[in-house]
Amino acid sequence: MSDAQVGRPRGPMSGPRYMHVPTFMRTPLIEDASEFDVALVGVPYDGAVTNRPGARHGPREVRNASTMMRAIHPTTRVNPYERIRVGDGGDVPFTRVYEPEAAHDDIEQFIAGFNRQGVLTLAVGGDHSITLAVLRGLVSDGPVGLIHIDAHTDTWDEFMGSRYNHGAPFRRAVEEGLIDPARTIQIGIRGAQDSTEGWDYSAASGMRVVPMHEVTQSGVEAVAEEALRIVGSGPTYLSFDIDSIDPAYAPGTGTPEIGGLTSVEALTLLRALRGVELMGADVVEVAPPFDPTGGTSLIAATVLYELLCLVAEGDESPEGGEA
Ligand code: MN
Ligand code: MN
Repeated sequence: MSDAQVGRPRGPMSGPRYMHVPTFMRTPLIEDASEFDVALVGVPYDGAVTNRPGARHGPREVRNASTMMRAIHPTTRVNPYERIRVGDGGDVPFTRVYEPEAAHDDIEQFIAGFNRQGVLTLAVGGDHSITLAVLRGLVSDGPVGLIHIDAHTDTWDEFMGSRYNHGAPFRRAVEEGLIDPARTIQIGIRGAQDSTEGWDYSAASGMRVVPMHEVTQSGVEAVAEEALRIVGSGPTYLSFDIDSIDPAYAPGTGTPEIGGLTSVEALTLLRALRGVELMGADVVEVAPPFDPTGGTSLIAATVLYELLCLVAEGDESPEGGEA
């Protein structure tokens, strides 16, 4: 408070939440990456959707909604900002958006830049095709585990001539040696399909698929327990497609499927994943043009905060951090 008393501007985290340019979580914009542990990065790209576009507007609206977030976690009482240095890494500076391969290259280069400096990336999409590019930018040391929360397996092959559409990233990621299918779990899968190809690929490659009806039967805590068992103790990526959540809560997305997670189940699931060794994560497919109340962006911002807390608490060493 003394800052305010001497008339200097307060830091964005301590000022009223409605003030200032809205960075992710009101964190400082990263200028020198060496001063940060985690970068919250926007990936405003939706050139690879198979249906309704709009996710290119996701990062801006999630930034805005994320100004609602506060610091101390309501159940663990941990303040992630006291454990790790978190900043807004800005948006991927796209140079070519009309060809998915070129756009993905832009994403990979930007994410790899943070990775080289030891900064962990939490990405906000963007359509789900961006996850392949983010993984390319992060993974150099053999395939990682994957916790994938989504209505869709996203292991289809080509669509309308592209193998890089948003229904294909995890098939490509297996082929490129970025993820280990034996250490992959897909949670919340549902909805009818015109072909079983994606479901078949996930099963044949050895991924554990937990369809939504099974989530409902076993409960999210049991599913989280299984997820921790499957990914084990190695480095793991978490990808959260907002369409995993029921469109009653999160209508702002390109390919909604009813009968999904409630917002409570989504939070409970994420909170039950404490201890997972996250090397990166994302929340994708927020399409603000279909989100008239802004509620979908608020859920995405809250998911992002929960991911940040998973990273901050996973960072606990026996020595304790230097904060
Ligand atoms: Mn998806
Ligand atoms: Mn989906």
